[in-house]
Amino acid sequence: MRDITHFIDGASVAGTSHQFGQVFNPNTGEVQARVALASVGEMDLAVASALRAQQLWALVNPQRRARVMFDFKRLVEANMDELAEMLSSEHGKVIADSKGDIQRGLEVIEFACGIPHVLKGEYTEGAGPGIDVYSMRQPLGVCAGITPFNFPAMIPMWMFGISIAVGNSFILKPSEKDPSVPVRLAELMMEAGAPKGVLNVVHGDKVAVDAILQHPDIKAVSFVGSSDIAQYVYSHGTAAGKRVQAMGGAKNHGIVMPDADLDQAVKDISGAAFGSAGERCMALPVVVPVGAKTAEAFREKMLAEIETLKVGISTDASAQYGPVVSEVHRRRISDYIQLGVEEGAELIVDGRDFSLQGYENGFFIGPSMFDHVKPGMRTYQDEIFGPVLQMVRAENFEEAVALPSNHQYGNGVAIFTRNGRAAREFASRVQVGMVGINVPIPVPVAYHTFGGWKRSAFGDTNQHGMEGVKFYTKVKTITARWPEGMSEDSAFVIPTMQ
Ligand code: NAD
Repeated sequence: MRDITHFIDGASVAGTSHQFGQVFNPNTGEVQARVALASVGEMDLAVASALRAQQLWALVNPQRRARVMFDFKRLVEANMDELAEMLSSEHGKVIADSKGDIQRGLEVIEFACGIPHVLKGEYTEGAGPGIDVYSMRQPLGVCAGITPFNFPAMIPMWMFGISIAVGNSFILKPSEKDPSVPVRLAELMMEAGAPKGVLNVVHGDKVAVDAILQHPDIKAVSFVGSSDIAQYVYSHGTAAGKRVQAMGGAKNHGIVMPDADLDQAVKDISGAAFGSAGERCMALPVVVPVGAKTAEAFREKMLAEIETLKVGISTDASAQYGPVVSEVHRRRISDYIQLGVEEGAELIVDGRDFSLQGYENGFFIGPSMFDHVKPGMRTYQDEIFGPVLQMVRAENFEEAVALPSNHQYGNGVAIFTRNGRAAREFASRVQVGMVGINVPIPVPVAYHTFGGWKRSAFGDTNQHGMEGVKFYTKVKTITARWPEGMSEDSAFVIPTMQ
């Protein structure tokens, strides 16, 4: 059995906990490797390495740090096929989605290549008589990131790309479900010229996460995962005096107005609801057609669209989506479908019995769709995180704005309409962090920022873009006045106490 080890101080570290997690191949259901789960000892090793590395890394000028990012981007691109296959084999998403996962992460690396410009600081000449004021952004020290299984390349790069570019060192605690790509990314960072210890990867579960939250030398923690854990990480991390940003779960709505281009909306919502087996925090698992006519037409067209969907193994280029990440998760999704039936929603497509010939033990589940879902139902309130589309009918625009606004999650939302005024009003009023107008998955580009509202994010800075730079740096402001009449000598000598 292959062992996946930690990556500490530029080297593979087996660890001493003797605790392991199973890494499955979701296509076959087989265990393909075991991953070492850290004890506090491994975290201490990683922090000591990161501390040493950071003191020197912070002194490297920003152009040189940016050059490492350039080289890293080139290396990841050169290894794209290998990385995508590795990612798909542990996660289950199709190769095209794995490449998208890597590519979206690389876009943050591209942003990080411009870090010298971003770190320039501000300057006011003559803020008082002979007084100039300037500010600079300095790194925090050792930072850590805790990431979910569903984007094992993009989300680590959101975090370490910016954190390292601004002069921090970084400890990544990736998901134990698909840990290989994060290790490979750290190896490529070293190959690109990052000194050892600048990026460490420590695998683990709650023990590793708690070690991060309690370690006095870790100054900031970025988390992405489910909301209860996000809240836990936020409250414990901030109580320990750390900076914390913690992104949580989601239940994104797609509003379909009567004037929408219905054929396009159906295609878009199908891709956003079922793509990557619904395991995206920016998936659109809830559709809200406005008016009975829109609902009937949408239902009919979506049923036809679902018929065309192909579920296959992750290397099948003709498949729209592959298996979900684990058998436990497949069962959880199935249980939610059963609950939906019991709660009184109408199950119009049932994907529970889906089985792929030759891959009967894989974690596959077919697409499902409910109509007449009501806001009070638990299946509407909870995040299912699977290929399940729920239709909630709204009578009018006001109801359509209220549904996502009143939901506990507020990550993303989309409106499909030809009416600019309706779209503008919707975007302005809806209580959600990221809004798409005829764009089903409104993930902002790397130089903007990513983050939801309500239980979708705890803390006050978003991921990447300038918000990321703010999160990973502290501002120092200098107010300076130079006395007149300095002697020739004293201009060149640093004054001492004598
Ligand atoms: P998860 O919360 O189970 O795991 C996330 C991380 O927390 C992992 O590294 C895991 O090892 C760790 N963890 C798990 N249980 C823990 C515990 N009890 N104590 C401490 N740490 C623990 O999430 P997941 O299943 O890996 O990912 C899916 C979730 O992530 C979904 O809810 C999805 O919406 C969310 N997500 C959110 C965003 C966003 O930006 N808002 C992006 C991607 C995924």
